[in-house]
Amino acid sequence: MKFTSTRGGQPVGIEDALMKGIASDGGLFVPDSLPRRAVGDFDRADTLRDTAALLLEPFFAGSSIEEDLPAIVAETLHFPIPAVPLSGDGKDFWLLELHHGPTAAFKDVGAGFLAACMSRLRGHEDRPLVILVATSGDTGGAVAAAFDQRPGIRVVVLFPKGRVSARQARQLTCWSDNVLSLEVEGSFDDCQAMVKSAFVDDDLSAVHDFSSANSINIGRLLPQSTYYAHSALEHYRATGNRPGYIIPTGNLGNALACVLARDMGLPIGDIILATNANRLIPDFLAGDNWLPRASLQTLATAMDVGNPSNMERLRSLHGEQDQLSGLIRAVSVDDEQIAAQIKKQHAELGIAICPHTATAFQVFEDLPEGDLRKDWILVSTAHAAKFESIVEPLIGEAVAVPEALQSILDKPSRSHSIAPTLEALGDALASGFGNKDDA
Ligand SMILES: *Cc1c(COP(=O)(O)O)cnc(C)c1O
Repeated sequence: MKFTSTRGGQPVGIEDALMKGIASDGGLFVPDSLPRRAVGDFDRADTLRDTAALLLEPFFAGSSIEEDLPAIVAETLHFPIPAVPLSGDGKDFWLLELHHGPTAAFKDVGAGFLAACMSRLRGHEDRPLVILVATSGDTGGAVAAAFDQRPGIRVVVLFPKGRVSARQARQLTCWSDNVLSLEVEGSFDDCQAMVKSAFVDDDLSAVHDFSSANSINIGRLLPQSTYYAHSALEHYRATGNRPGYIIPTGNLGNALACVLARDMGLPIGDIILATNANRLIPDFLAGDNWLPRASLQTLATAMDVGNPSNMERLRSLHGEQDQLSGLIRAVSVDDEQIAAQIKKQHAELGIAICPHTATAFQVFEDLPEGDLRKDWILVSTAHAAKFESIVEPLIGEAVAVPEALQSILDKPSRSHSIAPTLEALGDALASGFGNKDDA
């Protein structure tokens, strides 16, 4: 299987697509063709891991890590991803819990898979690979967790000082000597600008082998289609129905993985994207032009995206507005509704949901009459305990912290504070690893 940039150019193998992350023309890698699968192809796949290995096989065929795929899958999917049956307002539905990984959000799947691939592709180079990540919270933690203690790979996490929650900060700063956590005296945009300038800086690139692990890497996208495939197959086998999915959406990576699974022939019905007040996708599907907007701050911070990058992939695979509006739907949910859903689901179902997951509940509640005969799987993208400062005041009680997350929160935390400049980043890179003393 080859992968080509959304902007054209020469196809590359999966190795290059994974290691480069973004194509040299600035485009995103997409598979040259999607394998078509039948439900029967998965008859002997009983577990998520079996399904994942079968589903991803064609993408790795002929690559140097083809044989490693089952091990990569096992290393990544080491936690459960259940579709839990629930019932509220007299309606049955399912909640696909993507939040049982090390940092309690779905990004653990993509980051874990990418780390497992990269560490195998990285051979025995003398210089370590240096992964630079700018994060406003969730991504950095998942990437750091995934690459923690991987030989030959270092991770540099840049986050804005004072602008991530206390629990998020701990998830960014509790790792081993191969992870350097930099608290930048600036904004998230400063962090991102520093990473971008480092990539194109000749002096820094002469001494460091940089790479990225951001959410547009195809190695984070592909594994996300596995939990849609597996939950849809289980549902279809049990009921004969193709479930629809309602997916909290920001940069469109998680929802695009569901579209890919359906494209490949998995038994998936409707796909509805739930966005927060950042409503470019719903407006675009309703006919507006695709004009990137400044992102609005909402309670569902990990979805505060004004210019969802994966739309470029979706358009290159599926065409323009009119085609897309028949393929997916999108609904925007505001902060008031998010808060109301967190309260309501706690009162009625006795569960604590995170602000991102709350958008899916709102969309489910507002489904038109005609959709209620269908089966729906709502997607839980993170555990409520990650967003306790929002959730706990709303539900009036503490959210129990999952064991995996607690073990991270219990670790000692270390970071360096740096100025928002490329020079400061260069200095930190030169001196930082294994030398963290300003705890
Ligand atoms: C990243 C994230 C999202 C948005 O996912 P995209 O792939 O960017 O659409 C939703 N919820 C949580 C908790 C996240 O961390």
